[in-house]
Amino acid sequence: MAGPPATPAATQVPIRAGLTYQMALNSKQDWNVYMEEPAAQLDRFLIQHYRTQYYGSVCSICQVQRNDVKGHLISQNHWKKLWAKLEDTHIPSPQDVVNWEKPWVEVINTALGDYLFNHITGEQKLRESSAPLMNASPVGKVPTSTARQKTVCALDVWVWQRHIEVSAQTLQNVLVEANNPAGASPPLPAPVVTCEVCACHTADMCEHLMSANHYSNLRIRMDYTVPNAKELNTGPWVQQAFKLAGYHGKALAVSFNHLTGQVSRTLPNQPQSQPKSYMATPPAIEHEC
Ligand SMILES: [Zn+2]
Ligand SMILES: [Zn+2]
Repeated sequence: MAGPPATPAATQVPIRAGLTYQMALNSKQDWNVYMEEPAAQLDRFLIQHYRTQYYGSVCSICQVQRNDVKGHLISQNHWKKLWAKLEDTHIPSPQDVVNWEKPWVEVINTALGDYLFNHITGEQKLRESSAPLMNASPVGKVPTSTARQKTVCALDVWVWQRHIEVSAQTLQNVLVEANNPAGASPPLPAPVVTCEVCACHTADMCEHLMSANHYSNLRIRMDYTVPNAKELNTGPWVQQAFKLAGYHGKALAVSFNHLTGQVSRTLPNQPQSQPKSYMATPPAIEHEC
């Protein structure tokens, strides 16, 4: 069965606050809710990496200058312009809407490379480098070495996958277990939960955590730095619970450290002195040489 190369992240259509992109496009109130978080994420990224020049640029949908990126993207005017643009083509299918080559994806040139923003789904990422790592940029057009390090390459993703693989599997198992509190038989299927790094929903956190898209977003969220060892277990990279898609705030009491991979069952209503740790094999001590 010949098909396109597997790109797990490419098929994920985010649901936020129980809203799909179709619902958001059809209601300006829902649009505001649906787009708020990704708009804020884009704003934060651009403030850090391109504020001055970016703020002089125009919205690719409205062709007007944006002085307040978040405010603009959730505004009624922007929503109307986006809607008007889509009238000809109608609301794209889930397969099409996540395609990074479509006209509703804005390409923003930043200090770290091309940053892609999907105006319908709110998904965003740095464009993945398609050039092999060993191919140095031609002399005369060399980006700074730090900028080059900041683009995701295949080797980075491969190393990330080796690091997170066991923890990702553990997390998925624990989520399924947490969704089956009474040991239901037959067990309930894997719950659709939120990845807080990407603000997206998935029923397979294992596959999602291993994806290049998640890794790319994690790097951006971490601003390409790592905390010192003392802070590793307590920062915002520790997701405290997994919100269930479509359940309006209901969440599974499982925490996950997106950097170290530590998985814990938590008891939200009772302070717990010793959460059971499901920490997977420490990443640096693998059985293979
Ligand atoms: Zn606009
Ligand atoms: Zn993610």
